[in-house]
Amino acid sequence: MSDDFLPIAKPDLSEEDIAEVVDTLRSGWLTYGPKTQRFEEEFRRTVGSAHAVAVNSCTAGMHLALLAAGIGPGDEVITTPLTFPATVNVILHVGATPVLADICRDDLNIDPEDVRRRLTPRTRAIMPVHYAGQPCRMDELLAVARMNGLTLIEDAAHAAGSSYNGRPVGRLGDITVFSFYAIKNMTTGQGGMVTTDDYVIADSVRSLRNHGLDADAWRRYTATGRPFYTLTAPGFNYGMNDLQASIGLGQLARLPEFNAKRTRLAERYTELFASLPEVETPALREDVVSNWHLYVLRLNQVGISRDEFAEELRQRGVGTAVHFLPAHYHPYYRERFGFRKGDYPVAEAEFERLISLPLFPLMTEADVERVVEAVEGIIAGHRA
Ligand SMILES: *Cc1c(COP(=O)(O)O)cnc(C)c1O
Repeated sequence: MSDDFLPIAKPDLSEEDIAEVVDTLRSGWLTYGPKTQRFEEEFRRTVGSAHAVAVNSCTAGMHLALLAAGIGPGDEVITTPLTFPATVNVILHVGATPVLADICRDDLNIDPEDVRRRLTPRTRAIMPVHYAGQPCRMDELLAVARMNGLTLIEDAAHAAGSSYNGRPVGRLGDITVFSFYAIKNMTTGQGGMVTTDDYVIADSVRSLRNHGLDADAWRRYTATGRPFYTLTAPGFNYGMNDLQASIGLGQLARLPEFNAKRTRLAERYTELFASLPEVETPALREDVVSNWHLYVLRLNQVGISRDEFAEELRQRGVGTAVHFLPAHYHPYYRERFGFRKGDYPVAEAEFERLISLPLFPLMTEADVERVVEAVEGIIAGHRA
């Protein structure tokens, strides 16, 4: 087993998931249809939101969320530098300007105080990311949003199954967007879901994902459907299909089990790292339940850089990742918006020392022990 490379993440697909896909293939209905509708309804009920609209990625969902919220040229949207570029890209896609606010040192989530400092008369929305699965300080963010008439759109790519003050992610802000990419907590291969309590937003997202038409394929091509449709806006082809939803149905049913397993493994990591002063283990705030999407370790003084540390782990058969290169370091954003090193001191300092370790439901406790031994071995090798 120790000869095998342990990846940072891996999807857990059951025989039932596979059978459900085969069933869809045999049904002959491959695009948006009954399975996607069932998936949307079950996701909606799980989260407790009034609406759930399935899309083909979280990125597509965030793009449509911004459009549905009426955000466009001249508007500013505040988000975090510690995110995947998609969060920032979608702001550009609608013609708005991304404004970054620094993060909190404890949970690596956007800092509501810094959001407040970055408000201008042009600010229209806040797009927090529930980093690593730990929900943001939502009461504070909601207060800023409500005081200033802003839409709160959450990038919940990491946060399926997490909750804040007893409320599930998906019904905290105005619009929430989930990712079902292959290595997220639940997967449809690629896919996403938009949840909201606002039926105008939901209708808009539903139409925009389907070219801006007022009727989907299921309503057009089935026996009870009507064959015509009209365009209400120039939309996109962002819908989910029934093959993806077939996988999602079983994944959604097993999400609590997946997240419980991740939690046990994360707690084991933290227990084993407790006596190692060279690392700082991730801590949860009191007001959250995390789905433990990522186990992000922070290095103290280990004698080598984070990148060298990651390389040594790779040589020992352990896969890692860095979540994320801060957005303002990406050459495109840097050149376009004139960001400089020093603009986001907390994100910059924490970025230098964070490393995501393997964590996925198919891992065993022995795998966790193996990773911890590798980390200990590297640290011991560089102790002065
Ligand atoms: C994965 C991820 C996305 C993109 O999700 P897709 O479903 O692949 O579009 C967006 N934001 C964050 C923070 C992510 O980790």
